[in-house]
Amino acid sequence: MTNKQKKARAAARRRRQRRQRAILIASLTLLVVVALLAATVVLRQMQKQNQRQAMAYQDTAIHADATRIPTPEVQVTAEPTAAPTQAPTAEPTAVPTPEPTATPKPFVYLPVIHKAEITEKRIAITVDDLYQTDNLRTIVKLALEQKGKLTLFPVGENLERSGLAELVKSCVFDHGFEIENHTYTHARVFRLSEQEMADEIWKQSQAVNKALGVDYKQHFFRLMGGDGSSDQRTHNYLTQLGYLGIAYWTISGSDADMDQIKDALSPGTIYLFHSTDADTEKLKEFIPWAAKQGYKLVTMNELLGLPANDQAPYSGVQPAPQPQSYIPDYRTHKHGDYAYIIIQMQDRLRELGYLDMNGESTGYYGDKTVDAISEFQRANGLEVTGQADEATQKKLLLG
Ligand SMILES: [Zn+2]
Repeated sequence: MTNKQKKARAAARRRRQRRQRAILIASLTLLVVVALLAATVVLRQMQKQNQRQAMAYQDTAIHADATRIPTPEVQVTAEPTAAPTQAPTAEPTAVPTPEPTATPKPFVYLPVIHKAEITEKRIAITVDDLYQTDNLRTIVKLALEQKGKLTLFPVGENLERSGLAELVKSCVFDHGFEIENHTYTHARVFRLSEQEMADEIWKQSQAVNKALGVDYKQHFFRLMGGDGSSDQRTHNYLTQLGYLGIAYWTISGSDADMDQIKDALSPGTIYLFHSTDADTEKLKEFIPWAAKQGYKLVTMNELLGLPANDQAPYSGVQPAPQPQSYIPDYRTHKHGDYAYIIIQMQDRLRELGYLDMNGESTGYYGDKTVDAISEFQRANGLEVTGQADEATQKKLLLG
């Protein structure tokens, strides 16, 4: 091989090597570009996935809010995945973080107590109004003869009559009886303005404090006639004042005959009586009879397993606290209910010509109100039930 040939061959080999290097570099570059493209596609997919998850979480949160169940502990998986460091994409990368807003607490109604769920032979005899001090004295004696206690629900202004305050004081401090609230003037509070309702409740408790000479923390409120136990305003104010429940009854001894009164004797029964002549006669027979059956007469607190009403040094007559604001919950009202919001509905139904009524709106959901609500529902494309559910109340009262 000549020198010339050798040179030519070497040159050819260098060219071949250069070509191979060029191909290699080109291939590698292509590979890198493909890899980068693939990575971008994958990252975009991941971002979209994260957004979808965040949206799903928001839906869950809204659902939880609407149905008032505690927000489930949803694991937010929208964690910042290795953020793409290359050129910012046009897509909004800010993943909406669902801030769970403070959900308003559902309104809590006080229990309306009809009976105690117990097995011991214990009953509570409650005596309302107390217009007749002498009769009350007789009833107290009947209870004491059986080593029993009573729960008294005086009308507040009656405590200002001579004799009753002294008797009630002795009942509490000498015999461990309980004194609860039954309004100041025997008013149906669901018919009153909110301030008047507040005064009726508050002034009774002040009259009790004055009669006893202590600040006496009552636990129960009894509605006049038992009417208005679904009135949200009343529950709101009683809760604000720290009451524990609305005291209803298992049987009204005032409206029952002796057979019915005796038939109702069972563990946990709450008897309603008044200090009338008729009820005093009934109690002369019933109290000894119940004791003979092995029943113990206890206070409402004792029947329900609650501590006695707290007592603190007397702080004098205080003004009624302003009723705290509340959000109407438009709970369903139906036949047989009494509530302030029913007065508002009746006023509006009359204004619109659906209800014909003499005098002032009663707040009682009777047959005429059922008919008027049904008519209103029919005319407004609502389900015709005759019951004022939330949708009906809102349409009627808020338009
Ligand atoms: Zn009464």
